Amino acid sequence: MRAEVIFTGTELLLGQTLNTNAPHLQQVLASLGVDLYYQVTVGDNLERLAQAIAQARERADLIIIGGGLGPTEDDLSREALAKSLGVSLVFSEEALKIVRRFFDARSLPMSANNLRQALVPEGGMVLDNPVGTAPGIILEHQGKTYILIPGPPSEFRLLVDEQVKPYLVQKLGAQRKVIRSRVLKLCGIGEATVDERLGELLRGANPTLAPTAKFAEVHLRITAKAGSPEEADQMNAALEEKVRQRLGEYIFGSDEETLADAAVRALLEGNLSLATVETFTGGLLAYQLTNAADAGRLFRFGYIFGPERVNWPVSSFASEKELAEQLASWGRAKAQADVCVAVTGREKNSSGAAVYIATNRGGRGRVGEFHLWGSAQDIKERAVQIALALLWRMGKSV
Ligand code: AMP
Ligand code: MG
Repeated sequence: MRAEVIFTGTELLLGQTLNTNAPHLQQVLASLGVDLYYQVTVGDNLERLAQAIAQARERADLIIIGGGLGPTEDDLSREALAKSLGVSLVFSEEALKIVRRFFDARSLPMSANNLRQALVPEGGMVLDNPVGTAPGIILEHQGKTYILIPGPPSEFRLLVDEQVKPYLVQKLGAQRKVIRSRVLKLCGIGEATVDERLGELLRGANPTLAPTAKFAEVHLRITAKAGSPEEADQMNAALEEKVRQRLGEYIFGSDEETLADAAVRALLEGNLSLATVETFTGGLLAYQLTNAADAGRLFRFGYIFGPERVNWPVSSFASEKELAEQLASWGRAKAQADVCVAVTGREKNSSGAAVYIATNRGGRGRVGEFHLWGSAQDIKERAVQIALALLWRMGKSV
């Protein structure tokens, strides 16, 4: 089954309201194996909304409309659906009961406007909404399914879970599928090289394989569609195996696992304790490490120094690289840790920085120079990512 989702609300187009209804609905559709190829956002405008519905009908069997079921003039989803299908809006006693119940329960007077919420396109089925005034609507029309869901997030979520999902489960019957994804995370390799090495694997249709680049990481999403979760997982695992054959050495983790988690895990496997020295990242590296699973078992000390070089433990050095090396060596001795990583550097201009990252393990050191761009915050995050990647490699190579 192929779905298209239409969200309506001018506030969503003006950037005043974030569309928080989308992810939950998308996840539910994916969990049922329903393909979502297009998602459209339209303002509160009858013509454009009716047009969007007509267009959705051309390319989907299931059209879901979120929002626009309120009592006011700019709530147009009922009208737009009726208009686009050429059916009339009829008054529904059942819908009126739902609207009325809301006001009665609160001893509030119902305004005449609310009567609009009891209108349903002819042939439509009313969906109960126990937490708001607007009922949802399902209409089966000429082989297509139209579902209208009220926009307030708590109502939207409840109707999706308790009405829309069960309806779709029943409708899909034996042809119900599941879509399952797995994300492999890589570091130390660029997106272009990943692309090259994966070659024809990127062109598979089921499972699909899709790379996305983020900071110092490349993520590979593997997505399978199958008759059961187990079958989908098996298909994903088979493709993952092929990916690992080509890129295994760069894969540090999967799904929710972070680079900090991977670095800590690798160091723990090597039985190594850790200290950090930061003059450039203000403690961000230590902070990320403390968020990693089991970090408490290996993280000894995190030293942070201000940029003015007042009372730094290292004062004579020939170059910034050497400074980073000496800081790492100092930190390791001071913390009596197996490994120390030091991050130092300076801003070159408003958008770039030269960063020096040194590791020291058992007295043996390595150091690298990195030129990083972006906002001050971005640069610090990237520096931390590089430091974590170095720690992960070091832990692995024990
Ligand atoms: P509506 O019924 O579309 O007028 O929406 C009622 C309330 O829900 C308004 O406050 C909207 O801003 C909010 N709302 C509607 N759609 C969404 C959405 N997709 N995400 C978050 N809030 C929404
Ligand atoms: Mg609205």
